[in-house]
Amino acid sequence: SKFKEGLTKTRTAFVEKVEDLITRRKKIDEEFYEELEEILISSDVGVNTVMTLIDDLRKEVRARKLEDPADLQPVLSEKLVEMLSGDEGNDNSLRLPDSGLAVVLFVGVNGVGKTTTIGKLAHRFKQEGKNVLLAAGDTFRAGAIEQLEVWGERVGVDVIKHQAGADPAAVMFDAVQAAKTRGVDVLLCDTAGRLQNKVNLMEELNKIYRVIGREIPGAPHEVLLVLDATTGQNALSQAKLFGEKTGVTGLVLTKLDGTAKGGIVIAIRQEMDIPVKFVGLGEKMDDLQEFDSEQFVHALFA
Ligand code: GDP
Repeated sequence: SKFKEGLTKTRTAFVEKVEDLITRRKKIDEEFYEELEEILISSDVGVNTVMTLIDDLRKEVRARKLEDPADLQPVLSEKLVEMLSGDEGNDNSLRLPDSGLAVVLFVGVNGVGKTTTIGKLAHRFKQEGKNVLLAAGDTFRAGAIEQLEVWGERVGVDVIKHQAGADPAAVMFDAVQAAKTRGVDVLLCDTAGRLQNKVNLMEELNKIYRVIGREIPGAPHEVLLVLDATTGQNALSQAKLFGEKTGVTGLVLTKLDGTAKGGIVIAIRQEMDIPVKFVGLGEKMDDLQEFDSEQFVHALFA
C-alpha cells in the first residue's frame, strides 16, 4: 500500500490513460498500438523499451488471438513484471555477509537523495536490531557532513567524520576502524557527488574501494547508485555514466512519489544490467521500499 500511495502520480498519468484507452477503443488495431505507444513514451518508459514492449504485445496478441482491448491489460501487466524482474528474477535484496562487518557505499550526483536514503536505510537496519554506523565521505559539498549528522541524530546512529575538505579515503579508513572496534554490523558510507570532474571522482572512488577492501576483504559489499526519478531520462544517463565505471551493484530510485514519470524505472531496468534494490517514496524515515517488480506493477494497476 506504501507503493500504491507513492505511485499515485504515475498511476494517474500512465495507468489511467491506458485504462481509458482500453475502454474507449473497441479493437486492438494499429491506432490502438499507436496511442498506447504515445502514453508509454510520455511516462518516460523510453523509446527503445516501448518498441520492445509493443513488439512483445503484438506477438502475444497474435498468439492468444486476442481482439478485445480489455483482454490486453493482464498481458501488459505480465510483460511489465517480466521487464522489471531482469535475468536474476525478482530478488532485489542486498547481498551482505551473514556475519561480520557489512559495508555499503552510496554514490550519485548531489541532490538525488543520497543522504536521505542513507538515513532511511540506517533506520531500517536499526529496526532489524543491527548496530549501524555512518561514514561522512562527502567532504566536498558544503553542509553534507552536517546533513548526515542530522540524519544520524534522527535515527540514533553515530557518524564518523573529518573536517570539510578532508581526504574521503581517510574518513573511510577511520570509519572502518571504528566499526571494527565497536562491533558494528553495517557501515553505510556517503561519498561526494560532484560530476564536474569525472576523472577525479573515479580516482577518489577507487581510492575509497582500495582502503575499504584492504581492511575488509570483499568490501564494499554493495555499491548503491542513487538516482532521482523526477529527472527522468537524465537519471538513465547518470546510471550509464556511473554504472560503467564505478562497480555499482544496485540502484536506488528516489522521489518516485514526486513524479508522474515512474515509467523511468522500466527504462532503467531495461537498459542497465543492474537491479533496482530500493525506491524512495517520500522524505520520511519509513519512505523507503524494497523494490519488488510484482508489487510495483500491481500497485500501478490496482
Ligand atoms: P543528496 O544531496 O543526494 O544527499 O540529497 P538529499 O538526501 O539531501 O535529498 C535532496 C532532497 O530530496 C531533500 O529535500 C530530500 O528530502 C528529498 N528526497 C530524498 N528522497 C526523497 C523521496 O524519496 N521522495 C521525496 N519526495 N523527496 C525525497
